[in-house]
Amino acid sequence: MKAARYYDNHDIRIEDIPEPTPANGEVLIKVAWCGICGTDLHEYLDGPIFCPTHNTPHPISGETAPVTLGHEFSGVIEALGEGITDLEVGDHVVVEPYIINEDVNVGPDSNDYHLSDNMNFIGLAGRGGGLSEKVAVKRRWVHKISKNIPLDQAAVIEPLTVGYHAVDRAGELPEGSIALVGGAGPIGLLTGAVLRAKGITVVISELSELRRKKALEAGSADYAFSPAETNVVEEVRKLSKDGRGADVAFECTSVQVVLDTLIDAVRPTGKIVIVSIWGKPATIDMHKIVMKEIDLRGTIAYVNNHPDTIKLVESGKLDLAPFITGKIQLEDLIDKGFDTLINHNETAVKILVTTDPQNLN
Ligand SMILES: [Zn+2]
Repeated sequence: MKAARYYDNHDIRIEDIPEPTPANGEVLIKVAWCGICGTDLHEYLDGPIFCPTHNTPHPISGETAPVTLGHEFSGVIEALGEGITDLEVGDHVVVEPYIINEDVNVGPDSNDYHLSDNMNFIGLAGRGGGLSEKVAVKRRWVHKISKNIPLDQAAVIEPLTVGYHAVDRAGELPEGSIALVGGAGPIGLLTGAVLRAKGITVVISELSELRRKKALEAGSADYAFSPAETNVVEEVRKLSKDGRGADVAFECTSVQVVLDTLIDAVRPTGKIVIVSIWGKPATIDMHKIVMKEIDLRGTIAYVNNHPDTIKLVESGKLDLAPFITGKIQLEDLIDKGFDTLINHNETAVKILVTTDPQNLN
């Protein structure tokens, strides 16, 4: 079967590799669509980061490069390994793409398996990936979805769940709360969509006019301001009930000035959730954190959030279609996929990849 294999930075090859067979407790999935993630771009430009190198196997998967890429995917069950009785061939599914040590509690009561030692992802550190025709995945990480969700939109559930967990990290947010999202990249947009689906008023601060337009059109924001043209802190205060600022803010850019704006824009006792990956230390005005009793929190990936995120999509309260800005075949992964996202990232949100030419008709 065809698969996109990561060898090293600037070295991803479309190759023919053997089809996987499902071991006991594994589900064989025929991939329908797989999204390209910012993480994939980082691996391509600056990696290996999550991917193993040629000579250092990942401690859990045991695999070295090359590894198959792709962790945002949807598909249809083609076969079931022994011992699986609660799924059927033909079911539509998405994958929570974790590689986690066997001795970690990954049950429904866990809220920290995603923070366990050497945690990594299917499609980055081994165990196959969505940028291929088929993948075998342990039952635990397979989530059945309604056939009412189109399979292309279902491929966006993985990054949407990142937004869902970020919102969850903010704790109780009564309906009518005001949230400020810094940055309208894919994760900022999806976080905004989750917030609005929960009845929260969303303000997005974003420099790019095209991205602001997308945020409003796609249902990710009620208001979108340019921090170059508008005093975002003042606007957020005006929109808040008592003029004191946003109840919560989400940092989705890893840009210092955005973090500074969020610190100024949240109300006393407000919360700031850091969603982006920071490659360098930030400067934080601790006096402001202290004097407003701000809660500054991190969030990474997701933990037991897939079932609720899938329910939210099934409820129809948010529409994932506007976030799909391109569909390509696997052969065009680098030329039409990576290149577009790296060089034309103002208009591109999610580009989906398929190995099945029929999907593109
Ligand atoms: Zn991702």
